Amino acid sequence: MSQVHLGHIFHIAGSPVTGEVADALVAEPDGALVIDDGGRIAYCGNRADIPAGYRAEKVFDHRPGFLLPGFVDTHIHFPQTFAGDAYGGGQLLEWLERCIYPAESRFAEPEFAQLAATEFCERRVAAGTTAAMVFGSAFPHAQDALFAETQRRGLRMVSGRGIQTTGEKSAAPLLTTEDDAIRLTGEEIGKWHAADTGDVGTALLHVAVVPRFSLAVTRETLKNLGELYDSVRDRGVYFHSHLNENNRPGTGEVDSTKQAYDVATYLDTYDGKFLPGSAEGGKSLLGRRSILAHCVHCQDVELRRMAETGTSIAHCPVSQQFLGSGTMPWKRTIASGVTVAAGTDFGGGDEWLIPQVLSAAFKVHISEPGEDGVSMHPAEMLFTGTLAGARALDMESRFGNFDLGKEADFVVVDPARVPSLESALAQGIRSEDSALARDQTLFALLMGLREPAIAEVYVRGRRIDLH
Ligand SMILES: [Zn+2]
Repeated sequence: MSQVHLGHIFHIAGSPVTGEVADALVAEPDGALVIDDGGRIAYCGNRADIPAGYRAEKVFDHRPGFLLPGFVDTHIHFPQTFAGDAYGGGQLLEWLERCIYPAESRFAEPEFAQLAATEFCERRVAAGTTAAMVFGSAFPHAQDALFAETQRRGLRMVSGRGIQTTGEKSAAPLLTTEDDAIRLTGEEIGKWHAADTGDVGTALLHVAVVPRFSLAVTRETLKNLGELYDSVRDRGVYFHSHLNENNRPGTGEVDSTKQAYDVATYLDTYDGKFLPGSAEGGKSLLGRRSILAHCVHCQDVELRRMAETGTSIAHCPVSQQFLGSGTMPWKRTIASGVTVAAGTDFGGGDEWLIPQVLSAAFKVHISEPGEDGVSMHPAEMLFTGTLAGARALDMESRFGNFDLGKEADFVVVDPARVPSLESALAQGIRSEDSALARDQTLFALLMGLREPAIAEVYVRGRRIDLH
């Protein structure tokens, strides 16, 4: 049975290059989205022009609400479901040791892990996050609970257990032996990769190889993970980790990593060059299905290498502010050609909602010093939270916008549920220039959006229940 959804549509059409998406913004104030019985976009355009064959179909009238592509969160931590706003840690490495390793260790208890899986999926639905790269728990039973609950809800997810083979005392419950790190990751791939359909091209569930970061593993682990990843690359398995997040002089993550490995760049550790002097010691973990979170303090050579390999960046400005990590330089990063998509990094970030990440991105990038400061175009913001995320996940051909034939992942926004949003949209100043007025409305929508305004969430044309 086909469906017709009516509302004010915004999306980024086609496949524009990052940094040049303003011309790809599509707005249909009196819009209609037609979903065929396979859950794909059959029509996106003006309500008056719905193809005749669909005019008798079931109509869902969301006016004066909005229809947006589902949000894509390219970096979020499942075992930190209850660890948002964790106080008392300071910056990254201290926060991990004092707040996060203890919080993640609680997932050793199966009932607690199940509770967290339920809560995590509820938060995702409430935030309209239809697809996500999820940094997983160290514990296989917790990952089983997460995949099972995600499948039950019908959400899209890429996830893998967090791998740690070395670390301080508070991380001890999260560590495994070298052999178990590889065995458990291999088992998770065997059990959950494309488990819902048996076909990577149609699956909603995918598995990633996820070392927490280079400081949490050994050279031996990186070597073995390189071998493992090389053996499963052609099955569409992903790689995910952190890169260049915190550079507090002397004790920050960037310096600590470069010192521990004696390498020229942090990226070298994921690129098979983890021996002293950045000598090659194994296979690279970079590629089209690799996403590295943060990349606040990259050298040009690292950005070039990421662009060359198709590796993407999960940009997490809310988290970067929360942990005092600094600001990813927008212009320089985009100019490198690397794909930049949005991530909440919950609980390093204290927000589940991707539009709030986009709001933070706008604020931090307009505040960059001198010539580096940029006022992000609203289309660039929408792109970063939707289509760029699909691209980072190497599934741009499947979802991320309302191009014909794509799988229909979308959210219905009802501004009346958030009075401040409703009034800003109704009373805000709009230019007489229609293109600028359109951009102003999209900006007001993205900046003012809060979770209660997400009225309905659809993945592949199927409405997802909150509970
Ligand atoms: Zn993170």
